[in-house]
Amino acid sequence: MTMSLSADEVSRYSRQMLLPEVGKSGQLALKSTSVLIVGCGGLGCPASLYLTAAGIGKIGLVDNDLVEKSNLHRQVLHNEQRITKPKTDSAFETLKALNSNVVFETINCRLIRDNASEIVSKYDIIIDGTDNPMTRYLLSDVCVINKKPLVSGSALRFDGQLTVYNFDSNTPCYRCLFPSPPPVGTVTNCSDGGVLGVIPGTIGNLQALETIKIALGRKPTYAGKMLLFDGLNGEFRTITLRGKRSDCISCGPNATIGPELVDYETFCGIQCNASQYLKILESEERMTAKEYFDNYFNTNEKHLLIDVRDKLQADITKLDNAVNIPLKDIQNGNGFQQIEDLIDQQMDKTNVKLIIMCRRGNASQKAVRLLKTKINDILIKDIIGGLEAWAKEVDPKFPMY
Ligand SMILES: [Zn+2]
Repeated sequence: MTMSLSADEVSRYSRQMLLPEVGKSGQLALKSTSVLIVGCGGLGCPASLYLTAAGIGKIGLVDNDLVEKSNLHRQVLHNEQRITKPKTDSAFETLKALNSNVVFETINCRLIRDNASEIVSKYDIIIDGTDNPMTRYLLSDVCVINKKPLVSGSALRFDGQLTVYNFDSNTPCYRCLFPSPPPVGTVTNCSDGGVLGVIPGTIGNLQALETIKIALGRKPTYAGKMLLFDGLNGEFRTITLRGKRSDCISCGPNATIGPELVDYETFCGIQCNASQYLKILESEERMTAKEYFDNYFNTNEKHLLIDVRDKLQADITKLDNAVNIPLKDIQNGNGFQQIEDLIDQQMDKTNVKLIIMCRRGNASQKAVRLLKTKINDILIKDIIGGLEAWAKEVDPKFPMY
């Protein structure tokens, strides 16, 4: 199919077509390129915004999340009116309004083993804007099988990373770099670790730039290299990655993955949602947020409410009557003394009731288990689902983060 540019496209893209590295032929190359953006979050938003503006012919948007208020500081395609709407729909509305020449496909689902190859195979270049190791391994394997370059980015706190996997026969895949998954429980994402919005903004833009270079037929700068961005100190460093691993099970000569994919949950040791909701305590050691409200918060029932989240989180928001003693202080022993002091200050020391809460009801369970090893003869329970449940069941106005 011979492609041409409409009058709208000629004037729209004229400033980049004046670049000798682009020209009319480059613009046509962009128009004939399709890009799949996996994740319409902090990285996917800026990447898709600039690729749409630049005139990529077709853009696929994959995500199964809904827009939340805590996304808006970094996920710049979404807005206040779109909260609770699917991110793919929100992204589509913003991007379509920017450039109606682009063809969009919204794919409102999670990328999983059963659908990944079918989705990825239809696109020329894949952008990884996800934040969990499971999807990263899946996407890398699928890109190797389907021979697609994978423009990968990550951002957390003030730090960002960028690299292009699987660009040609010399560039490593994600598995070449990380043959084994990180230990369960060590992975921090933006919702737990925090991130400054301009960090994924910066990395997402660079992902768009690498993608455009590939579409123009050039070698991307970060194939076989990795950019390390330290936003707090304003430093960009580039490291050269070692090449492919000859024993890589995905892209090596004796690869065992493909066309069949592996079970990524088992490989990463994550059962669905298990990382999100632990089960440590028995049901009689717990209460719902509503029960806490009815039997303690809203009555004169004397009790101590201990919030075991980190201080940074407790500073953002907590229940007025809660005392913040972080789980790590209880784990290192210092927190026990604080709690014992609080118990000593009570009028009736033998009848103290200790209620423990956190954000989701995981840390609070660990705290209860620990406290019960040292503090006997008093009631110690935690609140199921923590502050998230409080905001859902008791006080919908409570500011969740
Ligand atoms: Zn590999």
